[in-house]
Amino acid sequence: MDILAADHEQVVLRHDRNTGLRAVIAIHDTTLGPAVGGCRHWAYDSESSALIDVLKLSAGMTFKNALADVPFGGGKSVILGKPGERLSEAMLEQFGRWIEELGGRYVTAEDVGMRVADMRVVARRTRYVSGLGRNGIGGDPSPATALGVFIGMTAAAKYRLGVASLEGLRVAIQGLGNVGIKLCRQLHSAGARLVVSDIDASRVNRAVAEFGARAVPPDAIFGEKVDVFAPCALGGILSQTSVAQLQAKVVAGSANNQLADQDVAAMLAARDVLYAPDFVINAGGTISVAAEYLHVEGYPDDAWVRDRIDAIPDRLMTIFSVARDHRQTTDQVAQTMAREVLARGPQLVGPDRNARRHAT
Ligand code: NAD
Repeated sequence: MDILAADHEQVVLRHDRNTGLRAVIAIHDTTLGPAVGGCRHWAYDSESSALIDVLKLSAGMTFKNALADVPFGGGKSVILGKPGERLSEAMLEQFGRWIEELGGRYVTAEDVGMRVADMRVVARRTRYVSGLGRNGIGGDPSPATALGVFIGMTAAAKYRLGVASLEGLRVAIQGLGNVGIKLCRQLHSAGARLVVSDIDASRVNRAVAEFGARAVPPDAIFGEKVDVFAPCALGGILSQTSVAQLQAKVVAGSANNQLADQDVAAMLAARDVLYAPDFVINAGGTISVAAEYLHVEGYPDDAWVRDRIDAIPDRLMTIFSVARDHRQTTDQVAQTMAREVLARGPQLVGPDRNARRHAT
């Protein structure tokens, strides 16, 4: 995604002198509804890298929410952390106040470095937060994300490798956090053979012990002789250098903004590697977050969530065939589809009361 063309509606930089908290909140597009996207807490090496990250992530959320069939626009926030730091309750409450001040134009939830417990503290100061788990719906979005990636990966393997299931396939998983470890569990149950890497040795040891995974150092994961590569760590990891090493025929994982730039999408296609666009395959979490936020009197329910996650494989299949027929990259096709949804404008979802409540 070309960030200079990303065209954000609002970007807010905040600093609190009392707690030292610093954050950037980016609202990319509210055509379809309030901007929804998680908050990332990360020790960035500079303020500009934090800004670039939030601008890219929020633009990606616009496309993700549009294609996921949820009535929300795209936004994201980042908290500029320090290595090993845990956010205090005072910091989380301050973050909540900043979200509240935006009056509902942005709804936050957890992303990398944030947990459900953190969101509960944020919720003391704002209504515009999801991913806490309320009325038996929502909560930690990572199970929904992992499920969407698993069924999306199965579809991609069917399309590219002509197999009916992932049984016996070799899958390399980069990053064994909330999503990565759950994906490992599903892949293991499906009979896939796992190769894993993480910069946190304890997470690697767990995957080896629980799923019989083979561990490799972080830098070696790209060159592993596998069928599928699943990026589940951070963004920008598909670069000219890493793609040149890839042995996999399918790339399907949860990480946001996997492509370092658009040329990488073309390079993947030229090498006949099928790329499942990240903002399509990893939408399970935002669907769960959306359902929790919209939830009034029993609607949306689990079936609403499940229907939308179940739509991910078919959506990917459409993207793969259009890309093949029109000689475009899968990322280009997915972006075009998302723009078409945006051009149609907001749609009512389900009972009017929900649409009315969230139109304000
Ligand atoms: P997480 O923070 O729980 O896990 C990330 C893992 O990646 C950690 O274990 C970390 O040690 C590891 N890691 C970092 N750099 C690495 C490297 N160079 N090599 C190997 N491992 C490395 O995050 P998560 O919630 O599991 O999310 C993973 C990715 O999926 C992120 O990009 C996130 O934005 C994206 N995503 C997550 C969700 C969700 O529901 N949690 C939804 C959509 C997208």
